[in-house]
Amino acid sequence: MIYLDNAATTPLHPKARAAMLPYLNEFFANPSSVYTPARQVRKAIDEVRQVVANALCANSNEIYFTSSGTEACNWAIKGILEASKGRHIITSAIEHHAVFHTGEHLAKLGYDITYLPTDSTGCVEPEAVAHAVRPDTCLVSIMLANNEVGTIQPLSKISKITQKYNIPLYTDAVQVVGHMPINVDELGVDLLSLSSHKFYGPKGVGALYIRKGTNIASIVHGGMQERGRHAGTENVMGIVGMGAALTAVLEEMSAESKRLTALRDRLIQEILTKIPHTKLNGAIGDNRLNGNVNISFRFIEGESLLLHLDMNGIYASTGSACSSGSLDPSHVLMAMGLSHELANGAIRFSLGRENTDDDIDKLMAVLEPTVQKLRDLSPLYDDYRKHLQK
Ligand code: PLP
Repeated sequence: MIYLDNAATTPLHPKARAAMLPYLNEFFANPSSVYTPARQVRKAIDEVRQVVANALCANSNEIYFTSSGTEACNWAIKGILEASKGRHIITSAIEHHAVFHTGEHLAKLGYDITYLPTDSTGCVEPEAVAHAVRPDTCLVSIMLANNEVGTIQPLSKISKITQKYNIPLYTDAVQVVGHMPINVDELGVDLLSLSSHKFYGPKGVGALYIRKGTNIASIVHGGMQERGRHAGTENVMGIVGMGAALTAVLEEMSAESKRLTALRDRLIQEILTKIPHTKLNGAIGDNRLNGNVNISFRFIEGESLLLHLDMNGIYASTGSACSSGSLDPSHVLMAMGLSHELANGAIRFSLGRENTDDDIDKLMAVLEPTVQKLRDLSPLYDDYRKHLQK
């Protein structure tokens, strides 16, 4: 199999698996209990808190574990809203559903949400944030890098604006942590979310960084876990796995980032030069996540292409939301100004640590004839050819 969907999830790192196994066996104690085995489990959790803090250049008392990236997003947004009693949030039109749908839900409850537009590469203009600020704005939420097209946002410029107006800035960094160096002070963010399964850790565990002094309410009430701010017995095995995965990817990061960037650029170059009527979606070069390739194939449906790749053991993803039960084209690609046709013909290949040049060779060997075969069946392509013959 050729797995090219690492932005959806990543395989478990062998070091994470090894670190987790004892927590399925002897280390089962509840970390909130007071006896010796429980204290050992608590110590393991707190060691991971330090690993996560180091990865963000933050302090360990600013890290809170959650059950997913989505839950961390919800906490950041709803927690700030409740604590500040504000009515208005500024976000972007290309956020992941964890933020986008949370905004839609809050709008139904009567809050005002401004969805900032982006340019054609999916980049938010910092000045647009300044223009959207109102006296009742209580949060700016802009993702660090987009999950569909990989565009990296100018967060350190945006934070200059939020700091001027004294508005907390939250960033969904789920696609970035473990892949690029992060420094919360350089970014100027007050809240940042991450998710373990995007960097070779287990699923169902994430974290929220909350800058010391940020006024935020709890959204999960119960016991005193996470220093009384996030109730629920910790997913100990998940947290330990996340810590081991993060430690491993941070060690590999510099070399792996160079390798992936070269692989990404090779794939982009090969598709654009060997397959006609293709378009790269997103930014070029440094403003793009190192594993992200998002291409629109004109005249065909991304879904059909995906199914044909699947039959050949190649796994990727569409830029459209069809996989989540909707036939609407991707809100991200539409916000970037793509036509319905180009948005529906988009495929995301997201590369990871197990991909090699050999995978690109095999993908290209299948992709070229498959695209041609689908185009030969496409009424749109037929119209196009007839138009050329006129
Ligand atoms: N934010 C972004 C940018 C993502 O890509 C994802 C997952 O795809 C999430 C949030 C949600 O994270 P989780 O799967 O841990 O809920």
